[in-house]
Amino acid sequence: MRSIRRTLQNVKCSCCGEERDDSLVASLRADPTVHVCRDCIGGLNERAGGIDVTPTLPVADMADAIRFCESAGFEVHAYDDGFAFVHFNGQSVFDLDLIAGMDPTTNHAGCYIITADADAWHTRLVAAGLPVTAIEDRPWGMREFTLTGPAGSNIRIGSTASPPS
Ligand SMILES: [Zn+2]
Repeated sequence: MRSIRRTLQNVKCSCCGEERDDSLVASLRADPTVHVCRDCIGGLNERAGGIDVTPTLPVADMADAIRFCESAGFEVHAYDDGFAFVHFNGQSVFDLDLIAGMDPTTNHAGCYIITADADAWHTRLVAAGLPVTAIEDRPWGMREFTLTGPAGSNIRIGSTASPPS
């Protein structure tokens, strides 16, 4: 994991004033000395009228789904036997909902995770032995691949492809 190899460094958020791990902080383009933490970015997004989305993926077997998510590096917080919240790095990504009698072969549910480094995700998920497609630059401007869950949901993971220079 990247966070083990590099030296952890705390950066003071210019918005809330808290010391944060530098992996959770971004600097302003116009002034790189101004740092804003992820919590504050979320708050600023809401204040600017932005929304946040958490899809719900149906599952046929909750224990199986939780094992799969944990092996993919997600944190799972079970709400009860039939519902769970799935996070990555402390941020909500999707929920799991146990649907009695669902058929994984006809499940067309999915979601899209946009990250700054889809290649690192791909490497990590391949190393975990999970079912992923090859990573490819797609005509819609994303570099992406698909991870398929045990109930047949397709979790696409991509980064904005670098513009040709
Ligand atoms: Zn902050």
